[in-house]
Amino acid sequence: MEALRQARRERRALVGFSIYNLEQGLGVIRAAEAVGAPVLLQAGSSAFRYAGREPLAGLALGLAATAAVPAGVHLDHATDLGEIEACLRLGYTSVMFDGSARSLERNIEATREVVRRAHAAGAWVEAELAGIAGDEDESSGRQATATTDPGAAARFVAETGVDALAVAIGNVHGIGDEPVRLDLDLLARIGRAVEIPLVLHGASGLPPAEVSAAIALGVAKLNVNTELRHALREAVLARAADPPAGDGVAALLDPVIGATRSAAEAKIRAFSSPSASTTGSSS
Ligand SMILES: [Zn+2]
Repeated sequence: MEALRQARRERRALVGFSIYNLEQGLGVIRAAEAVGAPVLLQAGSSAFRYAGREPLAGLALGLAATAAVPAGVHLDHATDLGEIEACLRLGYTSVMFDGSARSLERNIEATREVVRRAHAAGAWVEAELAGIAGDEDESSGRQATATTDPGAAARFVAETGVDALAVAIGNVHGIGDEPVRLDLDLLARIGRAVEIPLVLHGASGLPPAEVSAAIALGVAKLNVNTELRHALREAVLARAADPPAGDGVAALLDPVIGATRSAAEAKIRAFSSPSASTTGSSS
């Protein structure tokens, strides 16, 4: 939590990278270590469907525990209280409860309960008001629809005690054909209404200047998934086109670690490292 608060104070962003396997996790941790910046590994529902909850959680927690930089493990977009409980028991350092499909009243009620349980376990909570368009695991080309209302956000934060708030300001999960434009005026109004760190989902593929502008207005956590998937895909295809001799596992899979590291390091250098502090006005 301290890394997140510090990020907002210093106009930087902690980057949460979604991972689905060991090679991606290793690449992310090596990137954070190379920059000397804190990082979050995000291992959530959709990746659990691929790898299993306990195996993937164990992998992420083990990587975070042995990292040479502060590293947390975050549950992204959970809608199920049972899953949140299970991850808190496993040792997750933060969880995101996504109650955006509920009415504001019911979202407040459910989020407050998640906050109570997570805080008791020493974890912090991110929550969401308006749904963020698109699919978390595959680029869908969908457009953003609902946006976060600053007044509702202020009430939501006050009544739930949540630690971070994911905003819908035109951002979309995945990378589509149409360029995404963030509504920075809306973000500025949300940033004035809400003092806690804001979270930008769907940060893959946004122009760096736009992300920096969002950080200057209160975004202190970025979620990146698509760019790591693209790095993995390119590394796998390139390896397959030019296979190494023999049947060693490391020679085949090493490129995934390297490609993930490069993609993650670019994001961390741009938005997380102390030298990345944005100087824009937060007024
Ligand atoms: Zn998301």
